Amino acid sequence: MANLYTLSLTRCCWGVMAICTLLYSTLSKAADSDVTFTYPKGARNAISLTFDDARTSQVTVAIPLLNRYKVKGTFYVMPSKVAENLSLWQGAVKQGHEIGNHTNEHLCTGNFAWLREKNQGLEQVDLAYIERDITYTTEYIEKHLGVTPRSFAYPCGNTFVGRGENVKSYVPIIAKHFDSGRTWLDESANHPTYTDFAQLTGIRMDGLSFSTIKNYLEQLRANNSWIILAGHEVGEGGMYTVDSEMLEALIPYLQDPKNGYWLDTVSNVGDYIKAKRAQ
Ligand SMILES: [Zn+2]
Repeated sequence: MANLYTLSLTRCCWGVMAICTLLYSTLSKAADSDVTFTYPKGARNAISLTFDDARTSQVTVAIPLLNRYKVKGTFYVMPSKVAENLSLWQGAVKQGHEIGNHTNEHLCTGNFAWLREKNQGLEQVDLAYIERDITYTTEYIEKHLGVTPRSFAYPCGNTFVGRGENVKSYVPIIAKHFDSGRTWLDESANHPTYTDFAQLTGIRMDGLSFSTIKNYLEQLRANNSWIILAGHEVGEGGMYTVDSEMLEALIPYLQDPKNGYWLDTVSNVGDYIKAKRAQ
């Protein structure tokens, strides 16, 4: 709730910045007092870096970069893409990065022509079809990468099959097979004592500069939230590319204890939050 307040304030108050700043800081303080959830080493927030689709630049650019900072990422992979760089992905597992399931068919809404034309828009398939694709992907990861994925990312952030009155959610399938599922293009971070692990939110990091992300994090970090950043290609520029220079600035910022972040994989943070909830 506090995040909605702060985001709408940010949007509506451009014309009255002084009043806005006052209101914003008052609400931020109220929001921070809403929950006192602590993370390892006294961090105020948890944060995870996640990457979708097993794109080549993830193993050639992102993973070497993360390794230099001793940071572990979460990579939601598709078997057809892993096969293009199998030995590099096997290396990523050995280096401790988390491998999640992103399906093989990557079904999204059929508003994308490339799916609609194959009769593979989510509006055109059923739950059994989706579950087969998910199971195939888990078996592929177990066989070729030697790990069982515990986390899932919904392709395009879509969580349904069918249309209109016949729409069905496939969130329950994800809750059954995985410890967590992450959506995409969300506007709020995860409240540690409230969020549903089957629909963790994912915040875009593609195409953004360090200063933009830093400002965004300040808005998202109320309530000791867990912020999951999500991206695709890694390198230079582009709407679906995480800027590697941004990562080179962001990671040291997140690792500096005075900034109050705990940076770890989705499953490591998820395990920590679940254990604390159970206390
Ligand atoms: Zn994807």
